[in-house]
Amino acid sequence: MIVVMRKGSSQKEIEAVAQHIRDAGLRASVSKGEERAVIGILGSPYPELKDALEALPGVDQVLVVSRPFKLASREFHPDDTVVKVGGVTIGGGDVVVMAGPCSVENREQLLSTARAVKAAGATILRGGAFKPRTSPYKFRGLGEEGLKLLAEAREETGLPVVTEVMSERDVELVARYADILQLGARNMQNFVLLDELGKASKPILLKRGLSATIEEWLLAADYILQHGKSQVILCERGIRTYETYTRNTFDLSAIPLVHKLSHLPVIADPSHGTGKWYLVQSMALAAAAAGADGLMIEVHPSPDHALSDGSQSLTFENFKLLMEKVGPVAAAVGRKMARAPVAAPARRRAR
Ligand code: PEP
Ligand code: MN
Repeated sequence: MIVVMRKGSSQKEIEAVAQHIRDAGLRASVSKGEERAVIGILGSPYPELKDALEALPGVDQVLVVSRPFKLASREFHPDDTVVKVGGVTIGGGDVVVMAGPCSVENREQLLSTARAVKAAGATILRGGAFKPRTSPYKFRGLGEEGLKLLAEAREETGLPVVTEVMSERDVELVARYADILQLGARNMQNFVLLDELGKASKPILLKRGLSATIEEWLLAADYILQHGKSQVILCERGIRTYETYTRNTFDLSAIPLVHKLSHLPVIADPSHGTGKWYLVQSMALAAAAAGADGLMIEVHPSPDHALSDGSQSLTFENFKLLMEKVGPVAAAVGRKMARAPVAAPARRRAR
């Protein structure tokens, strides 16, 4: 159930409704929109509660939400959520591009990629320091060393950094270096990690699980939002189907559908969505046309030598070509590309 307050209802009226909900043994989650406040009821409300709440001062209407996800739903929060990070706004109408290598491999690889993606117009730098690998024998990331390199690349380019956190053990460590914490597809239903990320100080990028339905994905978002956090970005990265010519089946329809169902920004990752570098550009353009709030694109100085996901990584040149094409597509659907934040002037070294 969701209580929609009247326009201009007072703080006292909102608090009285929240207290009524708590007295019924349920939890109340208040969200204040531009026009009015909405109170989500968490738990299993009994049917008579609807009439009781509708009789309280300041209440406009009580909606029964039949969908299992609540906090991520549009009913609960009719306005779009806007995530702000390091001078970049995600979900505010502009298309944000997060680009960088699948894994941080070494200083030169990361810094050269950060410079190249920035020059081509990317707004956020991506790169994995903790890598989920199907095979335990493959490169599993540089760990904290990789986080330090990401922080150095941010310092130089001014690009905020998004990177994956794989375990609740590392949330605090990763949050010390990163601007956005990525929850990978393999962990979308790691409920302990979702709870920890709900308490973290940084925005969360929540990737869709390998075989997750949209409902399961939005329920995972509710796990994070339950802790009072509002800064969550969803990322469609393809789902596993019986098709084998692509790594995953990129679900383009998820983008407008999630916009209809949820207030959270949704970005598209056509790199993991397809697994093939030569499909990335067309799916990136399609995602921008479908209204994605951003793109996540893997880029590597030499994809053939990448330690992970080389086959879906773009060269600097191909990333530049993609960026040249995506702007006009965004403009065709009434949107523009987000601009990169300006890098802080290099600190003067003491002699
Ligand atoms: C990644 O972003 O490199 C990654 C591992 O993504 P996913 O969780 O979508 O597979
Ligand atoms: Mn990858």
